[in-house]
Amino acid sequence: MIVLVINCGSSSLKYQVIDSDTEGVLAKGLCERIGIDGRLVYQPAGGEKEITESAMPTHKQAIQMVIDALVNEKTGIMKSLDEIGAVGHRVVHGGEKFAASAIITDEMLAAVEECSDLAPLHNPANLIGIRACQELMPNTPMVGVFDTAFHQTMPKEAYLYGVPYEYYENYAVRKYGFHGTSHSYVSKRAAAILDKPYESLKTIVCHLGNGASVCAVKNGHSVDTSMGLSPLEGLVMGTRSGDIDPSALEYIAKKEQLDLAGVLNVLNKKSGVMGLSGVSSDFRDLEEAEQAGNERAAMAQQVFNYRVVKYIGAYVAAMNGVDCICFTAGLGENNAVVRRQICEYLGYLGIQIDEEANKKRGEEVVISTPDSKVKVLVVPTNEELAIARETVALTE
Ligand code: ADP
Repeated sequence: MIVLVINCGSSSLKYQVIDSDTEGVLAKGLCERIGIDGRLVYQPAGGEKEITESAMPTHKQAIQMVIDALVNEKTGIMKSLDEIGAVGHRVVHGGEKFAASAIITDEMLAAVEECSDLAPLHNPANLIGIRACQELMPNTPMVGVFDTAFHQTMPKEAYLYGVPYEYYENYAVRKYGFHGTSHSYVSKRAAAILDKPYESLKTIVCHLGNGASVCAVKNGHSVDTSMGLSPLEGLVMGTRSGDIDPSALEYIAKKEQLDLAGVLNVLNKKSGVMGLSGVSSDFRDLEEAEQAGNERAAMAQQVFNYRVVKYIGAYVAAMNGVDCICFTAGLGENNAVVRRQICEYLGYLGIQIDEEANKKRGEEVVISTPDSKVKVLVVPTNEELAIARETVALTE
C-alpha cells in the first residue's frame, strides 16, 4: 500500500510517501511559510530536490501543491491520487483518550479537539492538516498517530504530579510524555538488533534532538518519560529549559516584568542550550564555539549532558536495572562526542564504549564493547515509517 504521512504544524507541513510493501520512501519534502508566502520542497526518490516558491495562504492549498507535485507528469511518482491507499497523520496530544493510533472519524476528531487545551500550539495545527486532507481526499482512509499514546502505559506513580488530586480528576493535569512514536520505534529496533525478546528487555531511549526526551521502556511498555503535560518538562533542550523550580517563574516574571505567558515563552523559546550559551540552539554551533574557546558554549553542553545522565540514573532505579541504552534523533545519532561524554558518567553501570564503533554516525550500531554489562546502541529514529506502519495496520 502507498501511504502518505503528514506532520502538520502551524506554518509548516512535512510529508513522506512510503510504499509499505518495501518500506521505501517514494518522495518526501515539506511546505514552509504557509499563510505567510509559501515554499514547497519536493524530492522524489533518487531525484533532485525541487524548490518552488508559491503562495500558500492555507494548509489546503499547501497540501494541494504536494498532491500536484506527486502526480506531476515529469517528476511525479504516481499517475493519480487514487494510488494513495491511506494517509497517516502525526497528532501531538491524545491526552488519556488515546492509548493507541486511531482511524480518523468525526468522533475521533472531536476527541482530539478536546485534547487541544493540553497542546494549544500543536493539536489545532494537526487538526487543520487532517481536515484539509479530508477535503482533498474524501474517500481515502486516514489514521491519527499520537506522540503521547506510547506513554499511556505509565503507572500512576510515574504520571501523577504532587498537586491536588482534583486537578488530575477535573483537568487531567498529569505527565503525558511525547516522542512516543520515536521511543516505541527505537526500543523495538534495539531488541531486534540485540536479538532479544522485546517483552523482557529494560531499555532507556535518549531521543536527543532540538526537542529531547528520555524514556524508560520495560518489557515493551513505556513506564516513565522525561517530558510532562507539555514538552517543556525534563531535559535541557535546544531552546526549552526543561525542569525548573516553578517558583522561579514568579521570580523571573517580577524581575523581567513579564506575565506568565511571557515567562513561558522564554522557557520554551529562549532557554535551553540557546539561553545558556548565548550562541545557538544547534549543537553543531555549540561544538564549534566550544572548540574556539567559548566557555559558555562548553558549559551549556555540560548542563545538557548532566541532565541526560540524571534521567538515565533515575530510570535505572525506576526499572531496577537496564539492559540497553539507545541514542537517537539529530544529536543522538550524529554526535559521537556527546555520546561519549554521557557514557563517561555511566561507569557504575559497567558500561564501556568502543571508540571505533562510536565514530559511526546515522546508522544502527552497537557502540558498547562486547563485555560491556549494559549494551549501548545508536538507532536512527524513523517516525514517518512508524506512522506508515500504524496506518497500514489499521486500514488494511
Ligand atoms: P528536531 O527534530 O527536534 O527539530 P533533530 O532531531 O533534527 O531535531 O536534531 C537537531 C539537532 O541535532 C541539532 O541541534 C543538530 O546540532 C543535531 N544534528 C542534526 N544533524 C546533525 C549532523 N549531521 N551532525 C551533527 N549534529 C547534527
